[in-house]
Amino acid sequence: MRLTMIGTGYVGLVSGACFAEFGHQVVCVDKNPDIVARLDAGEIPIYEPGLDTLVARNVEAGRLSFTTDLAAGVADADAVFIAVGTPSRRGDGHADLSFVYAAAEEIALAAPDPCVIVNKSTVPVGTGAEVEQIVRKAVPGKAISVASNPEFLREGSAIEDFMHPDRVVCGVENPGSGGHAEAVLRSIYRPLSLRDIKIQFAERETAEVIKYAANAFLAVKISYINEMADLCEKVGANVQEVARGIGLDNRIGPKFLHPGPGYGGSCFPKDTLALLRTSEEAGATLKIVEATVAVNIARKQAMADRVVAACGGSVDGKRIAILGLAFKPNTDDMRDAPSLDILPALQKAGAHIIAHDPAAMSAAAPLLPEVEMADGAYAALDGADAAVLITEWNEYRALDLDRMKAAMAAPVFVDLRNVYPPADMRAAGFSYSSIGRG
Ligand code: NAD
Repeated sequence: MRLTMIGTGYVGLVSGACFAEFGHQVVCVDKNPDIVARLDAGEIPIYEPGLDTLVARNVEAGRLSFTTDLAAGVADADAVFIAVGTPSRRGDGHADLSFVYAAAEEIALAAPDPCVIVNKSTVPVGTGAEVEQIVRKAVPGKAISVASNPEFLREGSAIEDFMHPDRVVCGVENPGSGGHAEAVLRSIYRPLSLRDIKIQFAERETAEVIKYAANAFLAVKISYINEMADLCEKVGANVQEVARGIGLDNRIGPKFLHPGPGYGGSCFPKDTLALLRTSEEAGATLKIVEATVAVNIARKQAMADRVVAACGGSVDGKRIAILGLAFKPNTDDMRDAPSLDILPALQKAGAHIIAHDPAAMSAAAPLLPEVEMADGAYAALDGADAAVLITEWNEYRALDLDRMKAAMAAPVFVDLRNVYPPADMRAAGFSYSSIGRG
């Protein structure tokens, strides 16, 4: 199949490279010339483990190429995937669909006849129908069908997720009736269906809702365990054991039950908000999602308060070392990272912040003014009055406790990811606080 990916960011680049690895011929289009120039020069503009070799291998094999020229990129495509951003619209939390709609019209004008436009961006229910109207208006005579194929990959393990997904969801008109879009999507995903991975076909609207329902459910799990952690702290229970105890129940499952500083990233915060706006418009209140969002917002401020408390009630004039800035390990993505709320709150309380992150410091620097960036974890800890572990990168999991204590001005460690055993930290002489472990 000849496939074109519009938008070569976290989703577009990973999906494009993985489709090429399946054996398809893929053109990745991005309107940002810097991204395309870097890819053409063999550089990967984002941090995603394994992506450099996957891209290089498929470029070398002649199956993957990059361009800023959308019209040329789609000219002979069997299917064109839209993988552009759908950020929160400033002020109201609706998904900003301007990039999707602009891309749709441009694609329609340049696409061959027939062709399938497949929406991979996360978009509110009804967007597929709207894209179809844009296409019909732009090119009334062309046989272009519009499908939905939401993406479930996680940054940090994106290639593994794309190559070995739990399922693939496709939304088409009249699923099961053998339409053109369904046939094309079945061919595209044949390498996965041959491995018995479920390709679920549903109506387009249903596929659109599946994506938001999945993300909101995972966000609910996180806010739920975070509230449970607060309860555990009050009653002397251990939330990690609670999570294990409930997670071993197959009906619940162990994933997304790790208490922490609240969810962040490029998806959950904006998708839960957009889902709430959709539900309000549809007149179907989602109280559980509303509570999840409120709990998460409050959580980030509560984390800053926790650091202040660990420092004896004030961080004014204190040097606070931050380990980890990205919203999770193995990514440089800073979108809605909890650090973006926690660090300014500490600065407002008078702290001087020195931070380290293995991959996200250059993305973080412009977003966190006055934060000093350190070359390594121990450099950040040097002379610090307290350390706060925000992102559980592997390199922070085995810090030398004696070296760390010797480097710091005061042995105060706030572990927002429960990486260290409390007994070890106490034995090493730290004043240690973590989440929901008494
Ligand atoms: P991103 O910001 O990393 O990438 C989007 C890219 O699209 C940018 O490089 C931008 O320059 C490009 N672009 C915008 N308009 C364009 C146009 N008209 N023509 C060509 N290029 C254009 O975004 P992302 O993180 O890859 O997310 C894309 C979509 O996938 C979003 O809807 C997001 O919610 C969804 N999603 C993201 C993830 C994730 O982990 N990042 C996971 C699942 C779904």
